[in-house]
Amino acid sequence: MRRVTILGATGSIGQNTIDLIARTPEEYEVVALTGGRNIDRLAADAMRLRAGIAVTCHEELLGDLRDRLAGSGVEAAAGAQALVEAARRPADWVMSAIVGSAGLAPGLAALEEGVTLALANKETLVCAGPLVLETVERHGGRLLPVDSEHSAVFQALLGEDIAAVERVIITASGGAFRDWPLEKLKTATLAEASTHPNWDMGQRITIDSASMFNKALELIETREYFQVDPEQIEAVIHPESLIHALVGFRDGALMAHVGPPDMRHAIGFALHWPARRDLPVARLDLAEIGAFTFRAPDPARYPALGLAHEVMRRRGLAGAIFNAAKERALDGFIAGEIGFPDMAAVVADVLDKMSSESGLENATMTLDKVLDIDRLARIRAEEAIAARRALT
Ligand code: NDP
Repeated sequence: MRRVTILGATGSIGQNTIDLIARTPEEYEVVALTGGRNIDRLAADAMRLRAGIAVTCHEELLGDLRDRLAGSGVEAAAGAQALVEAARRPADWVMSAIVGSAGLAPGLAALEEGVTLALANKETLVCAGPLVLETVERHGGRLLPVDSEHSAVFQALLGEDIAAVERVIITASGGAFRDWPLEKLKTATLAEASTHPNWDMGQRITIDSASMFNKALELIETREYFQVDPEQIEAVIHPESLIHALVGFRDGALMAHVGPPDMRHAIGFALHWPARRDLPVARLDLAEIGAFTFRAPDPARYPALGLAHEVMRRRGLAGAIFNAAKERALDGFIAGEIGFPDMAAVVADVLDKMSSESGLENATMTLDKVLDIDRLARIRAEEAIAARRALT
C-alpha cells in the first residue's frame, strides 16, 4: 500500500487527487488530509478514505472538525503547526495543493522527510526555488510537477538531455479577457474575472489566469524547476488549452504535450510516475478539433509577463516579493479596493521599491527569511493599494 497525504485536500486539485485515489482505495493508505474552511468536505473525505488525521489550518474550527469526526477513528488537528506536523508524518507521496504561500512550510517539511512531493502549489518554487531544490537534494526526496504546463515539459523531456534544450514554450489560454478591448479592463468585475474559458479551477487561480499572473508564476517555476535561462522561456497564447507546453531542442525539433484540459492527467501522471496508468480523462478527437491556434501575448494587456522576466533575472528573494505583492493585490481586487489593471501596477511598484532596499536579493534563503519578505511585501502592497485609492 502506498502511503499518501494530500495538503489542500478540499480544494480543486485536492478533490481531483481524491477522485483518482478513491477509484482504487485498496492501493492507498491515506496518512493525512488537510483543508481550510470547508470542514464538512474535509471530514467526509477523511472518513470515506479512512485517513489517519484531518487537519484544518483554522484553529477556531477544531471543535467543529472534532464533532464531525467523532467516533470515526480519524484524528483531528488545527493550525499552521499542525499542518506542518501532518506533512511530516511518514508517507511515500504527498500532494502539495494548498493555495498561496501558506503551502510553502508544509511542502518543505514533507521534503525534509525525503518524500516524493507532487507539486501543484506554484508559490513553493516561485518564493523559494533554490531552498526547495537544495532540500530535495539534501534529504533524498523528489519533486514531481503537477501544474499541467510543467508536467508537460517534464514529459517532453523524458529521455532527453537538458543541455540540448533551446527553449521552453509555456502555453496560456489568455484567460477571461483575452479578447476584451484594453480600455474595458478597467471596468472588469470580480464575476467577469472569475470565469475561465477552458479550465474549471479555484477562484484565485482563475483571476490570475485573466491577468496572466498565473502564467507569470509558471514562467518563474519553469526557470527554477528545469534550471533554464529566462531568455529560453516563452509564453504563447493558445486559446484551445490543448497543448500545455512545448520544448524546443537545438536541432530545431519541438516536442509538444497535447491533452484535454483536465488536471487529473497531470495529477495522475505524478501519482503513478514512472508508470503510465489508465486515467479517466477524455481522449482527444483531433479531426473534430481541427486546428490548434497560437498568438503572441500583448505586453500591454498582460504586464505580469514582463514582471516575471524581471523576477527571473533577479532571482533570490525577488520571487517571494513578487508573489506576496501579487497575493495582496489580488485580495485587493477581490475586496473591490482596486481595479483589475491596478493589480499589476501594485506589484510593479512593490518590486521596484523593495529591490532598492539593499541586500534583499543576495540574502541567504531560509524559510524564515522568505516568510519575513512575504510579510514585508504584503505591507508594501497594502501601502501601494492605499496610495492608488487616494488618487481615485
Ligand atoms: P483551491 O482554492 O481550490 O484550494 C486550496 C486548498 O488550500 C483548499 O484545500 C483550502 O482549504 C486550502 N487552504 C486555503 N487557505 C489555506 C491556508 N492559509 N493554509 C492551509 N490551507 C489553506 O485551490 P486550487 O486547488 O485551485 O489550487 C491549489 C494550488 O495548486 C495553487 O497554488 C494553484 O496555483 C495550484 N494549481 C492549481 C490548478 C488548478 O487547476 N486548480 C492547476 C495548477 C496549479 P478550504 O477550501 O477548505 O478553505
